[in-house]
Amino acid sequence: MTDHRTEELAQNLAAVRDRIARAAAQAGRGEEPELIVVTKHFPAEDVARLYELGVREIGENKDQEASAKAEEAAALLRARHGGAYDANPLRWHFIGQLQSNKARSVVRYAASMHSLDRPSLLKALKKAAADRADPLSCLIQVDLREEIPEEDRRGGASPQEVPRLAEGLAGAEGLRLAGLMAVAPLGEPAGPAFGRLAGLHRDLLADHPGAQMLSAGMSGDLEEAVAHGATHLRVGRDVLGRRPYPR
Ligand SMILES: *Cc1c(COP(=O)(O)O)cnc(C)c1O
Repeated sequence: MTDHRTEELAQNLAAVRDRIARAAAQAGRGEEPELIVVTKHFPAEDVARLYELGVREIGENKDQEASAKAEEAAALLRARHGGAYDANPLRWHFIGQLQSNKARSVVRYAASMHSLDRPSLLKALKKAAADRADPLSCLIQVDLREEIPEEDRRGGASPQEVPRLAEGLAGAEGLRLAGLMAVAPLGEPAGPAFGRLAGLHRDLLADHPGAQMLSAGMSGDLEEAVAHGATHLRVGRDVLGRRPYPR
């Protein structure tokens, strides 16, 4: 398929991959981080186009949208590629805030969950994922804002809470402690914030050497994330374009 939209996505993807390669070279990193393309607010057709451009890692932040899109994209791609799709399928990364009652839905389509941020969600995921064949990779989302009262934290655990969540995850059947995730806080430079995240990741790795994933960096700050050791970047806008609806 070489429609106009596919060409646009191909160009954007090439530009983003180029930025990642340059940032990795500048940081003296041998291997490049993985690119997760965030397709929220864009249709399943775009996901299918991305697949045909070689993308396999897809990010979404809302369960309702993600579950429908995962099904629709798989149907589109099976219709076009048959069994070749199932031999090399898309991998869905859930990256948004999640209500505990949606855990059951997310474990059905997600390969990884980047936004585990509280014990109640851990409990719900544990219950939901108990009979998964392959464990769900879970990243603990950290709120990097400093000096925030605990009751004001949303979308991220405080750094102090990470070890306890990690212990809970490490012992959970159906789940795998995969690493840490964060979004750079608004109103402060991303570099120092990602520096703090890298420190927390080193501490986590000392106790949990398997927790290798560091999910950080979006369209506006992927270079800073690469410089601070991100293994997974979550890029939406600079690949898909401006979102058609407000988030
Ligand atoms: C939307 C989103 C992204 C992608 O952000 P862009 O600025 O569109 O690249 C990354 N991470 C999370 C958690 C998001 O919700």
